[in-house]
Amino acid sequence: MKHLLNDLNPKQKIAAQTLTGPVLVLAGAGSGKTRTLTYRTANLIQNGVSHQNILTVTFTNRAADDMKAKIGKLIGSEIIDEMNLGTFHSICLKILRENLNKINRAEGCLIYDTKDSLAIVEDIIFDFGLEATEYDPKMIFNIIAKAKMELVLAADLTAEYAQAENQGSKHFYQIVSKIYQEYERVLANNNCFDFNDLIKKTIELLESNPAILTKYQNKFKYIQVDEYQDVNHSQYQLISLLAKPQNNIFVVGDDWQGIYGFRGADISNILEFEQDYPEAVVIKLERNYRSSNNIISASNKLINNNTQNKVKEAWTESDDGAPIFIAEAESPLVEAKYVCKRINHLVDFYNYKLSDIAILCRSHFQSMQLQKQLPKFRIPHQLVGGLSFFDRQEIRYFVNYLKLIVNPNDRLALKRLFRIEVHGVGEILLSEITKYARENKMKITDVFESPTVVKGIGNNKAANIIEFQRRVIDSIYDLREEKLPMDKKALELYQRVDFEQNVLAELDDPEGRKRYLNMFLEDISNFRKNNPGRGLYDYLLINKLIADKDISENKEQKVKVMTAHSAKGLEFPVVFIIGAEEEVFPHLKSLEAKEAGLNPYAVEEERRLFYVAMTRAEKLLFISFAKTKVAGEQGQYKQLYPSRFLTELPKQRLDFTSVESKKGGSGIQMRKDKQVI
Ligand code: ATP
Ligand code: MG
Repeated sequence: MKHLLNDLNPKQKIAAQTLTGPVLVLAGAGSGKTRTLTYRTANLIQNGVSHQNILTVTFTNRAADDMKAKIGKLIGSEIIDEMNLGTFHSICLKILRENLNKINRAEGCLIYDTKDSLAIVEDIIFDFGLEATEYDPKMIFNIIAKAKMELVLAADLTAEYAQAENQGSKHFYQIVSKIYQEYERVLANNNCFDFNDLIKKTIELLESNPAILTKYQNKFKYIQVDEYQDVNHSQYQLISLLAKPQNNIFVVGDDWQGIYGFRGADISNILEFEQDYPEAVVIKLERNYRSSNNIISASNKLINNNTQNKVKEAWTESDDGAPIFIAEAESPLVEAKYVCKRINHLVDFYNYKLSDIAILCRSHFQSMQLQKQLPKFRIPHQLVGGLSFFDRQEIRYFVNYLKLIVNPNDRLALKRLFRIEVHGVGEILLSEITKYARENKMKITDVFESPTVVKGIGNNKAANIIEFQRRVIDSIYDLREEKLPMDKKALELYQRVDFEQNVLAELDDPEGRKRYLNMFLEDISNFRKNNPGRGLYDYLLINKLIADKDISENKEQKVKVMTAHSAKGLEFPVVFIIGAEEEVFPHLKSLEAKEAGLNPYAVEEERRLFYVAMTRAEKLLFISFAKTKVAGEQGQYKQLYPSRFLTELPKQRLDFTSVESKKGGSGIQMRKDKQVI
């Protein structure tokens, strides 16, 4: 314990020993930023700072768990569960839960994810009688989400966004502003937040309650942020608010890795840190510990094609290592087979474990071919951040029932149950029911008791609704009152509403879905065992925040398939980057945005993303692309072109292979040809 900081190099040590004032650690991938931050936390505690006075923000839940585990190893694990260490969302949620009454919410308040928010926007557009073609719910939701990230209130939306626009679009924003206002009203009514509220409402809470702000400023005397380059405006505001007046703020990041511009992150936050805090100490780490020299040199050469960079040096004591393997394949199918063959080869002959290997793609859609091929080559894989377990239809359905146990105000959940369970009553009638309830100041469930009061509901429909009210809603409300452990409650609910008969049996593959539901019920049971004192409410909240959670077993024995975005901060001995094609990586949208003059730096963000992907690799890096793909309904071939990023890599560090399918067989053969790139 005494020699805690001896595991750091001299510059890292300086950073970990600078305990007060603003500090920026600016350094490239793999230089030990996260490691330094972890050791600094341990060092603060060893220097007598209470762990409760340290706030550490990571970008993902996984990163938070890793960091906690490492801190536990360094100084003992007694305190790690009590640390204020997590993502912006989880930290804000904690603050909000401590102050629900101050923000117009009550106990049981749950979080809406993007799908939920979108459903609310759709309902509003429907209720307002607007044309969904003109007021596309997705587009409207994106405008609202962006406004929230920029802390723009509904009432100010028109003035903020339509200033420079013509009359027509001013009218458009006036309507959007009304939708936004209604959206906020519905969220408050349903006793829910959306994701962006977590940060926005925390800031509102702190700004309008000086005593509460002082309390948290005193609590979080030391603030640390990892991946600072991807902080957005509202997150930046929050941090600067909490850090005052002492400004003990320690941030680490790499402007070369800013990849969330499309979601409002702004690399100027890191570039301007020294302006914000003129007394800031800036520390640059230059030695890379992660990757071979070939990988470091190639990725640095690539990123230097960007104009928006801060200058950084990078060196390593590692050998050149293997060249970067570039493979050109006839088609995505041949490419996927090539990757599978290589993986088996690495496992069979080079002692790599499946868990050493990650396959990175620009978007999940692109990994479909690979997801089909991996099982054929008997390679177990884990899809990280794709359609998660909790996104499965049957799980989402069942979660709505649980939500109502926790938060009876959640009308969205109630409407969903209605849509799932009640046959023969369409959208218009449901809308009439909610309207009737609103106009007569009744609960919707009161209308369900005597549905014929609503015009258009005859005896048959009414019977269905009353049956639903008895079997489902009454069961839920009864269970709310019963004193049962959370897992028993969930199971009891499952049985009382006869979920299998009434819901699963109506869907395809009911047996398969039943298995997933059993896993889900088991997960609730495990949560209860591992978290004494916590209930269904905590379970639902926590699961919403942990989108990357996977409850399947044997993760160790699986290759990971993920997007370059979700690989941020991670490292793997072997990395495959697939689909390195123009219009894929760089993404078509970025090329269009640049072309249209909307964002001259759009391709630079793609290049940073490619840099992030490359720098995840420790020893071996494979990059592949296909030459053609089948596109369109008629199945025409579309020619593809290798990504411009490949042409920016230094040729002497590459090994080029061309892969073709063997005629008449399922195998592939490789033809070396260094001329193509
Ligand atoms: P990224 O920008 O990708 O997030 P990073 O700068 O946060 O990278 P880390 O993940 O902290 O880098 O470190 C990269 C690897 O180098 C880790 O495996 C880490 O343990 C190792 N490492 C960093 N510093 C040292 C050191 N002084 N001695 C030994 N290993 C180190
Ligand atoms: Mg890191």
